[in-house]
Parts: sequence; C-alpha cells; structure tokens
Amino acid sequence: MSDHRKTTDALDYHAMGRPGKIEVIPTKPTRSQRDLTLAYSPGVAEPCLRIAENEEDAYKYTAKGNLVAVISNGTAVLGLGDIGAQAGKPVMEGKGLLFKIFADIDVFDLELNTKNIDEFVNTVKILEPTFGGINLEDIKAPECFEIERRLKAEMNIPVMHDDQHGTAIISSAALINACELQEKDISKVKIIINGAGAAAISCARLYLSVGAQKENIIMLDRKGVIRADREALEPIKAEFATGADLYTLDQAVKGADVFIGLSSANTFSPEMLLSMAERPIVFAMANPDPEIAYDLAVSTRKDVIMATGRSDFPNQVNNVLGFPFIFRGALDVRATAINEEMKIAAVYAIAELVKKPVPESVTQAYNVKHLAFSNEYIIPKPMDPRLISTVSPAVAKAAIASGVARKVITDWSAYEEELNQ
Ligand code: NAP
Ligand code: MG
Repeated sequence: MSDHRKTTDALDYHAMGRPGKIEVIPTKPTRSQRDLTLAYSPGVAEPCLRIAENEEDAYKYTAKGNLVAVISNGTAVLGLGDIGAQAGKPVMEGKGLLFKIFADIDVFDLELNTKNIDEFVNTVKILEPTFGGINLEDIKAPECFEIERRLKAEMNIPVMHDDQHGTAIISSAALINACELQEKDISKVKIIINGAGAAAISCARLYLSVGAQKENIIMLDRKGVIRADREALEPIKAEFATGADLYTLDQAVKGADVFIGLSSANTFSPEMLLSMAERPIVFAMANPDPEIAYDLAVSTRKDVIMATGRSDFPNQVNNVLGFPFIFRGALDVRATAINEEMKIAAVYAIAELVKKPVPESVTQAYNVKHLAFSNEYIIPKPMDPRLISTVSPAVAKAAIASGVARKVITDWSAYEEELNQ
C-alpha cells in the first residue's frame, strides 16, 4: 500500500460516520416513562443515598467498576513526540477502543492541557469518584515517573502508566521465554539496554523482579553508556549506572547475551549483533522502525531470537497483550492498586500461555498453519482469545494475595467462564 493511500485510509476511517472512534451507550431499558423515572429523577436518588451511606456501593449502582480513564497530556504521543493534548486524542480514543474489544472495559479518554506536574496530579486525583482505574498514557519522561508515583500514593484505585509497565510486562514475558529457548539463565545473562527513557527504565526494573541481576545490566542513552562518574547524571538514570570500563554501544554489546532496544531506529548494526555471545536475544522495540530490522537481524545470525514492536514480523512486543486484561483483573476484585505482584503475575501468565497448544482460531486469524513455542513464537498473539481468561485471573489472584483487593473471588472456574463470554 502506498504511503498516500495509508494516509487517506486512516483519515477516512476516523472521519466516517460519527467522527472519532467511541460513543456512550445506555445499559438500562429506556423505553417507557417509568424507565426514565428510574434512570433519572426521582428514582436516581435511591442509589445516590445508598452510596452516600457506603461509598463501596458505587461499584454496585454506577459504572465506576467497569470504567477506566485513559489520561494523557500529549507530551510523548506514539513516536510523534510532544504534539499536544488535543492532537493526542485519536490515540486515547484508540486505546479506549482496545480496552472495549479485548476486555469489555469502558473508557473515557481525557486529554489534559497542561505540562505542569502539580496541575496534572491534582486534576487526576479529584477524578477518583468517577473511575475504577486510571491508565496514564503518552506522558513524557521524566515527568511520567513523578506523576505516576504521586498518583499511586494518593489514589485508592489502580493507576498504571502503560507506556512504562505494559512494555515491561510483555517484554519480561518474552525475555523469560527467550532465555529458556536459548538455554540461558536469566540470573546470569548480560543485558544491554539501549535507551534510558520511560520504557527502558521500567523494563529494567521489572527484569530485576523476574530474576535479572543489576550488575549484569548496562544501560545507554544518546550520550553512550550511563556511567556512575557522568556529570549531572539524572537520578532516574543513576539507578542503572555502571562503573565498568565501557563507553560506547560497540564496546558494551561485545559478548552480551541480550540486547534491548527502546531508543530509536537503526541504532544497532549487524556488526554489533555479530559481536554478541552465542544464541543472542535481540528485542529491537523502537517504533515504528526498530533498532535493527527483523530481516536483517535473522539473516545476520541464524542463532538469534528476535522480537520487535511490529505486527508484520514474528514476536511482536505489543502492550495490548497486557493492559486490557490487567485492568480487567484489577477491576473485578476492586483492587486499590496495580502493584508489583500483579505485574509479575501477568508476566508469568503471558509467558506460560505460549507453551500451551494454540487453538485453530488463532492460527486462522494470523493465516499460519501452525504455532508452537519456538524462536518465532515467544509471546502470544494479540488476537489470542485465551489471554483474558489466563491473564485476568492471574492478576486478580495476585491482587487478593497481596492484600489490595476489596472484593474476593472464590469460584475461579465460574470467573473464567464469565470472562470467556
Ligand atoms: P523516551 O522516554 O523518549 O526515551 C527514549 C530514550 O532513548 C532516551 O533515554 C534517549 O536518550 C534514548 N535514545 C534515543 N535515541 C538514542 C540513540 N540513538 N542511542 C541511544 N539512546 C537513544 O521514549 P520511550 O517511551 O521510552 O520509548 C523509546 C522507544 O521505544 C520508542 O521508539 C518507542 O516507540 C519504543 N517503545 C516500544 C514499545 C513496544 O511495545 N514495542 C513500547 C514502548 C516504547 P536520552 O535520554 O539521552 O535522550
Ligand atoms: Mg502509549
């Protein structure tokens, strides 16, 4: 398809019919006068009074428990950068669409016209009565770290910045599986992370939680290896600074087991790939163009396991494998947070799913004959219908076990059945 054709198709898609991608639909009968007196005045006063007595009843009588806010200030939209809150709206509506089709979660997208951290935090904080959860989206680093940290501390509903944790969760699952296939011990692999932004920092943190060792991680930004002796080193980067005698990517990747790219296009060369250890693992996740192209990497080394952010090659690291199902599980137990335990539960659920026999509906959807755990299938496909009944219960169980659930599920098979409907 030509670039011109792609542009007009995308614009037509968004403009056709009612502009945009989402709408609000009533969930109760509205046919008769009686229905309307129940839905609004005077009937509506009854649930209001119940909730005034007991706030938890908001989950019983309002849409709160199935409603997530997708909130952005438009400062780091896709790979487009700081295009502003209004211009980011198509992305936030798109996220709403994905929440709905994958996990039947309703979304209000909220575009906030501010770059001020205090103003952003205060605005989101006072929205708590409306929502069951908050998905922060496309907010630039380093502000995103403080915004999320403060909102998590100050709010009593789950808050997750998906650009950080979504990527971390999916790539951790992929990393665990790639290590298994390449017969490498995650606690021993030498990991080079190119990029030190929102995605890279939270990926590195989660890799530690699933077994990687800090002394085996080298992180780089535009200036090269992040060294402890660098002047004016940002605190967030200092967490992964090294004292090793390394300065450039060339030097760092020599003999490394894993290359994680969360930087920009074509920053990783075939020569660098050739200098890595045997059976290397390369996740080149810059979007839309990876640090090294999929075809170039696999033709350079037959023993590489390769993943990218792209849907047109095997092993797509795509957040949609995570956020709809993580929020589904969190909402269903009325969790007060999405904590480390819940993220780790999601990682292992996603990683394990790949090893189970793949249903025909999935192979058909992707027009392939066969899919089985292998170098070209280390993470599930986004259209896999088993994701919801695998990931959401794992997250809900972890929420209960870690003490952040306000509602307990006891009949897990009934819950899974419900999710499959
Ligand atoms: P970000 O916060 O802007 O961070 C980008 C980081 O990359 C910065 O630390 C920057 O260095 C570094 N960088 C840029 N060019 C570099 C280069 N040539 N060499 C070394 N480091 C370089 O962005 P982000 O949200 O973390 O995303 C980073 C990339 O990952 C983007 O391409 C994004 O599309 C991609 N991503 C992919 C997925 C996925 O699922 N596939 C998910 C999230 C993000 P400085 O700090 O020196 O500026
Ligand atoms: Mg995003």
